[in-house]
Amino acid sequence: MVDLIIKENYPLKYLTTMKIGGPARYFLEAKTAEDIKHGIQFSNEQNLPIFILSGGSNVLISDKGFNGIVIYNKIEGFDILNEDIGAVVLKVGAGEIWDSIVERAVKKNWWGLENMTLIPGKIGGLVVQNAGAYGCEISDVVHAVEVFDKKDGHIKFLNKKQCKFVYRDSIFKNFERRYVILNVLIKLVKNGKPKIDYPDVRRYFEKRKIQKPNLHQVRESIVYIRENKLPDPVKIGSAGSFFKNLVLSEISYDELYKKMKKNCAKESVKKLEELKNRFSGDGLIKIPTAYILDVCGLKGFVENGVKVWDSQPLVLANTNNAASAQNVLNMFKKIRQAVYKKTSIQLESEVEFIGFGRQELEEYFKLQ
Ligand SMILES: Cc1cc2nc3c(=O)[nH]c(=O)nc-3n(C[C@H](O)[C@H](O)[C@H](O)COP(=O)(O)OP(=O)(O)OC[C@H]3O[C@@H](n4cnc5c(N)ncnc54)[C@H](O)[C@@H]3O)c2cc1C
Repeated sequence: MVDLIIKENYPLKYLTTMKIGGPARYFLEAKTAEDIKHGIQFSNEQNLPIFILSGGSNVLISDKGFNGIVIYNKIEGFDILNEDIGAVVLKVGAGEIWDSIVERAVKKNWWGLENMTLIPGKIGGLVVQNAGAYGCEISDVVHAVEVFDKKDGHIKFLNKKQCKFVYRDSIFKNFERRYVILNVLIKLVKNGKPKIDYPDVRRYFEKRKIQKPNLHQVRESIVYIRENKLPDPVKIGSAGSFFKNLVLSEISYDELYKKMKKNCAKESVKKLEELKNRFSGDGLIKIPTAYILDVCGLKGFVENGVKVWDSQPLVLANTNNAASAQNVLNMFKKIRQAVYKKTSIQLESEVEFIGFGRQELEEYFKLQ
């Protein structure tokens, strides 16, 4: 029998990178699948909802906290399952800090993770979100995922296809959060090629006249770019990109184009066309939301300690680490309304809202 320590009224604020939020009614640290199983049993007995918390870097927790049990994912492990001349398959505990995995891989000269250097969070959280950066996503390296299935109480493996990865989404965000990730199997290659097409990365190497950077240089470039663009997560609260980038059909793009032609300066419309040509594929048009926020004059906008970050306006920063969840949601609402008015775009949140009531949230999603 496992000795479970379930704490009550446990503060969550400092377990999130936003540094916002009230306490969990119940809180449990899970180091093994058994711990997870017992946490789920407890929630069933108490008839309370569960929330799995990893690095807390993609969530905004309500000022009232979470009225249920928070299971804090601390499952560790970093083992080689298979290795040959060209590749290695690793089994990594869902609670391992992502950037330390990247660091270890780069030291070993294993390619595949380097462009995702410095993404905060734990590997379990990255898989849920299909997190990515600078032209790569974690789904590029996922081989399989070991999960605890809340529905039947069994531990099973999902292969990559079963994970249903798409842009910032996966099966783990759906199906009533049926799966808790225990371990992730990732496949890395030994003689990889640098992926440096992404504009910021390409510019970095062009400036330094490096044509074929090695793995360590790629990691260094990403550290440099991120440190210059994003708030330092140790000092300033944020959850990274608060809004998703736009993935538009031709019809939606045309609507945006018409609306911007009516409401925005000529140069902005010209830039929109350039972006369309740069980021399109598979019949879909990708427009960076940062550009839309810029066009709407929202860069640098600050209110009640919440700031639209100048060098990356997708980020809402908790500048003095004193803002409340309500302050952030008020800013979220203002931004969505301003963008809708000027472009007809309904921005989607990339961050998850935890512990809020449905009606309460609906208020913040109103467009007029
Ligand atoms: C400064 C900064 C920069 C960022 N940059 C990027 C970036 O470049 N690219 C990017 O994609 N994201 C970025 N993010 C957002 C965030 O880091 C990622 O989304 C990350 O994947 C979240 O991982 P986490 O461990 O913090 O997850 P959490 O925030 O703890 O959880 C996120 C979701 O996953 C679920 N979850 C977590 N672990 C498990 C598990 N083991 N089993 C089942 N469900 C689980 C949670 O219940 C929740 O629904 C950034 C954030 C910050 C603060």
